[in-house]
Amino acid sequence: MGYETIVKDRGSLRVPPNLSDYPTQRSSFSWDAARAELDGLPGGRGLNIAHEAVDRHATGTLAGKLAIRWLGRKGDVVDLTFADLARLTNRFANALDGLGVGTGDRVFLLTGRIPELYVGVLGTLKHRSVACTLFAAFGPEPIRQRLDIGNGKVLVTTRRLYRQKVAAIRDALPELEHVVLVDGDGADADGAHDLRALLDGASDEYEIGPTGAEDLALLHFTSGTTGTPKGAMHVHEAVVAHHTTGKLALDLHPDDVFWCTADPGWVTGTSYGIVAPLTMGVTSIVDEGEFDAERWYGILGDQRVSVWYTAPTAIRMMMRVGTEVAREHELPDLRFIASVGEPLNPEAVQWGIDAFGLPIHDNWWQTETGGIMIANFPAMDVKPGSMGCALPGIEAAVLRRDEKGQVVLDGRGDAVVEPPMREGELALRPGWPSMLRGYLHARERYERCFRGGWYLTGDLAMRDDDGYFWFVGRADDVIKSAGHLIGPFEVESALMEHPAVAEVGVIGKPDPMAGEIVKAFVTLNRGFEWSEELQLELVGFGRKRLGAAVAPREIDVRDELPKTRSGKIMRRLLRARELGLPEGDLSTLESGA
Ligand code: AMP
Repeated sequence: MGYETIVKDRGSLRVPPNLSDYPTQRSSFSWDAARAELDGLPGGRGLNIAHEAVDRHATGTLAGKLAIRWLGRKGDVVDLTFADLARLTNRFANALDGLGVGTGDRVFLLTGRIPELYVGVLGTLKHRSVACTLFAAFGPEPIRQRLDIGNGKVLVTTRRLYRQKVAAIRDALPELEHVVLVDGDGADADGAHDLRALLDGASDEYEIGPTGAEDLALLHFTSGTTGTPKGAMHVHEAVVAHHTTGKLALDLHPDDVFWCTADPGWVTGTSYGIVAPLTMGVTSIVDEGEFDAERWYGILGDQRVSVWYTAPTAIRMMMRVGTEVAREHELPDLRFIASVGEPLNPEAVQWGIDAFGLPIHDNWWQTETGGIMIANFPAMDVKPGSMGCALPGIEAAVLRRDEKGQVVLDGRGDAVVEPPMREGELALRPGWPSMLRGYLHARERYERCFRGGWYLTGDLAMRDDDGYFWFVGRADDVIKSAGHLIGPFEVESALMEHPAVAEVGVIGKPDPMAGEIVKAFVTLNRGFEWSEELQLELVGFGRKRLGAAVAPREIDVRDELPKTRSGKIMRRLLRARELGLPEGDLSTLESGA
């Protein structure tokens, strides 16, 4: 498949890898044994993510160890030890009690990467309410939808984000009882609480109540081809997978300094940007700033990062700056680099070797899986362009699909598994600890994810003879832009609200940096003429409603959009026409379009 396999010299690895013998460790692996590595709440009161991440270290020998080093945009630094984190999260949990928030209530956090976000998520988990992080680059509409679907009771945010994105939608959210401002001054509008005052008034002591492994802990929104965003429900048991995958796929060791560049508004930034390293007692770096190659090299060097988990878009942007720039920086501590979220080009894997002397290890997972499922491990040879092999405890397969895209069943009702090198739907055998337990209020959408004994990922892939998986594409129309999953329907619905727009079809258009960008095609209502001004107005309208992370970067007009006979816009065909690809099966196309 193009690039040569990178053969690992196991003897030269600086630290003996946690997963040193894949076949043996895979065959002897059990989730029960993995769970036994965790502590459990004192007195057998269950399993709580925040206890495993914070309290068990804070009451032991790691109390004074640096848990999180936060780097502010402007150069300020906040260091939090495990003991600090325990105290602050206790206060946060007490503050939630004080507000009358109950077990299972949803606490949303929309703050950007600031220390209060980390305290808030872990404090919420201690309190046994449900943490839901939102990406700060969302516009008002994605925020409103998620708070609405998730029955948000509390929103922790900043004054700026509140003013810009929440104030105007507040009336549409009757279930939102409390807004808590991390930088409030006690005199804020709409009866907002001031987080500092709440924490100052709260006790340092907090005992985590009994927590069932199946109690809801985290809600993460993701997008599908149709309909509103889906709230994937994750439970406290997920921590078993966070811990295990942090250990096996990211090879975290106690002395590591770990930097996960993902924002906690996305699942990677929560499972690995917060939980996994803390459960391992590892120091995490959190950077408030946005991508900047020079800043990033500075962080890798100055903070002596040893394990770095990032994304293809960021790697491509660093590649653009040049290999020499990377080589100018001394990074003697860096020993393992991993990437997730979108296809990692083979050139990028190789570039890691040229720039850092280390290949970049691609891995695969998704919001629904809660943790890494397929990975290139430190002790295994890397096949550039492949996502790697299934983790111990994870059974992955490629399932046969019929011409309609439906997974094919055999006579006994089991899904048919494709032989090696055949394309099909990537599927996982249900039952790992961080698997979603449902989509909130959307039972049927959840049930549609399972067929013939497997969880269907919505991705197309191939498996080779050595058990390495190769990403082929999405089986549906969702768009991956800069690593962020975007549902076309959300974008279409927002643009439809503009008076000029009669119909919209949204596609992902390949982009050398972002992987894909969002492109919309519109038809106009009578009385409107296409012009540069209208185009700009629509781009601005999209940005204002959806935010920069979701809005279409390009908008074009068409006299009509291709539709099926039942009236559904054929995004697949729009995309094929835009990219000059074969148009495929047109049997359902409405005539003339
Ligand atoms: P999300 O739920 O937002 O994390 O997005 C998950 C989706 O991102 C997957 O279903 C894939 O389509 C894509 N994805 C994640 N990791 C990879 C990877 N290593 N290679 C290719 N696509 C990936």
